[in-house]
Amino acid sequence: MTRVAFIGLGNMGSGMAANQVKAGREVVAFDLSKEALARAAEQGMTGASSASEAVKDADIVVTMLPAGSHVSSVYMEAILPNARKDALLVDCSTIDVDSARTVARDASMQGFRAADAPVSGGTAAASGGTLTFMVGCREQDFAEFEQALKPMAKAVIHAGASGAGQAAKICNNMLLGISMIGVCEAFVLAERLGLDARKFFDIASNASGQCWSLTSYCPWPGPVPAAPSNRGYEGGFAAAMMLKDLKLAQDAAEMAGAPTPLGGAAEALFDEFVQRGGAARDFSGIIEMLRGKA
Ligand code: NAD
Repeated sequence: MTRVAFIGLGNMGSGMAANQVKAGREVVAFDLSKEALARAAEQGMTGASSASEAVKDADIVVTMLPAGSHVSSVYMEAILPNARKDALLVDCSTIDVDSARTVARDASMQGFRAADAPVSGGTAAASGGTLTFMVGCREQDFAEFEQALKPMAKAVIHAGASGAGQAAKICNNMLLGISMIGVCEAFVLAERLGLDARKFFDIASNASGQCWSLTSYCPWPGPVPAAPSNRGYEGGFAAAMMLKDLKLAQDAAEMAGAPTPLGGAAEALFDEFVQRGGAARDFSGIIEMLRGKA
């Protein structure tokens, strides 16, 4: 039976690891949180007392941790010294490109196959096994990583070499942050001009303003029933997470010398929204700040 070590059983990791169990794999789980470990046991996983213990004898090691510093330390202190050399190492956290490349380089220098594989899709997709994975790894290793990720995925896409998965993720989320603010500003202007919001939606969604933030995740309540705007901006994709991704994009842009003025403006606006108490709200809730209501 394929043995998976899963480290980081938070909002995303717990559902993802449960899908590995459902696929008939043996999952040995570790998290610093006792509650997360208790939940993992209820879902059919074996709890480990440390990350080092979890990775021993694993065929696949998955990490789903908050940020680059957590991933680097778990790799250096637990995974690289204790995992089998033929284990597949895959980090699904959203982290900076630099840390992803450093971790992959260190792993490969010790003879491991490693991939960065951040995801698109929130907690519902994590539980439903319908995440999209953007994978950075060597071409010849991709097929095996694809099999490893399959129980948790709707799609697994090879983005390029190490770090390319993280690069794709932050470029996509920078675009999403900018487009959401653009859609919000258009609704606020339409409102001030006395244009009916529903009429504006019907026109823009059939005109050149059409985009995902408008037609699939409309920040104005009503036109898209499943969007968080109809639930008081609860759940969904937290503004704090969007801010984290926009910061990663700005850091990467500075490092690469890429001009991203709108990415910078989006970061500043989400920072303001978070400062004003919007951290846990869905990111489309920024429309309330732009309307002067937050
Ligand atoms: P989370 O904070 O809910 O979970 C992180 C887990 O890691 C926690 O349970 C924490 O206890 C554990 N952890 C931290 N350090 C650890 C260590 N050294 N050893 C073991 N466990 C440790 O975060 P999340 O929402 O599950 O997000 C995880 C990653 O996925 C982040 O990088 C995030 O940006 C990314 N992501 C999140 C979403 C989302 O909608 N939540 C969507 C896409 C990507």
